[in-house]
Amino acid sequence: MRGTVFNIQRYSLHDGPGIRTTVFLKGCPLRCWWCHNPESQSCRHEIMVFKERCQACGICEKKCPEKAISIEDSFIDINNEKCNLCGLCTDLCPNNVFEYVGKDMSVQEIMKEIEKDEIFYEESDGGVTFSGGEPMIQVDFLNEVLRLCKERGFHTAVDVSGYGAWENFKKVADKVDLFLYDLKFIDDEKHKKYIEVSNELIIDNLKKLSEIRANIYVRMPIIKGINDNDEDIDESIKFLSQLNILQVNLLPYHKIGMDKYKRIGMEYKLSGFERPSDEKINEIAMKFNKAGIKVKIGG
Ligand code: SF4
Ligand code: SF4
Repeated sequence: MRGTVFNIQRYSLHDGPGIRTTVFLKGCPLRCWWCHNPESQSCRHEIMVFKERCQACGICEKKCPEKAISIEDSFIDINNEKCNLCGLCTDLCPNNVFEYVGKDMSVQEIMKEIEKDEIFYEESDGGVTFSGGEPMIQVDFLNEVLRLCKERGFHTAVDVSGYGAWENFKKVADKVDLFLYDLKFIDDEKHKKYIEVSNELIIDNLKKLSEIRANIYVRMPIIKGINDNDEDIDESIKFLSQLNILQVNLLPYHKIGMDKYKRIGMEYKLSGFERPSDEKINEIAMKFNKAGIKVKIGG
């Protein structure tokens, strides 16, 4: 069995307890306006283009077998409809303008990568986190890697959007030590606007995970002017107070992934919004604390 991976990050401190190896699987059913891994969204492999590094030498344009590359007025462009993802340009360019995103790996290959960091898991009470994209989109592959991780005694966390069939959650739940569960907006109208789907399924799956007593950290992005107001925060607290969750992570909005959008020819729709102030984030954290919900600022 093979899965599509776009990154394996070692020594991660933000994706669950201890030192972790985070495996990023490609593909996501959602299109959050501020997604900081837009290269994770498509299930297909992709070429990321760092246009600013190009010196217009013309090698790639000449050699591309599909004539997918053009240089006009020193600006490089790839026609994605013509590109067959052969990867030749990534090897040829002397300035590393092209980066290949996506790698098909077998379960055994992934396990080999994970096992390299075993010593860190033992020393730090860490483990392995599966993120994305949405790792549940490759549920059979995920399930098999989780099974082997549990066999090896590794702590497992899965970072999920919640937007998927409950059957899939049931399939993996007994092999997941911790769900990192994204709850972006409690207000369904905002959810429909900025995530482009209703939050109904996400809320429903979260309730079900809580009912089966899964270990859950709820992750909430906080965006100034969108969901940092009292009404949204109070509603979130009211809802989460009824569930069995271990903690809430408040994730102040940032623009770190913004440049990546240009590199894969996508539009960044949330420009113009800012990170909330530290005072505001602390104030929100206090509200959660007062309601008896353990809260942490950051991942
Ligand atoms: S990946 Fe291959 S087909 Fe696509 S632009 Fe590069 S050289 Fe051309
Ligand atoms: S090979 Fe690299 S530097 Fe040369 S034109 Fe192509 S992208 Fe630009």
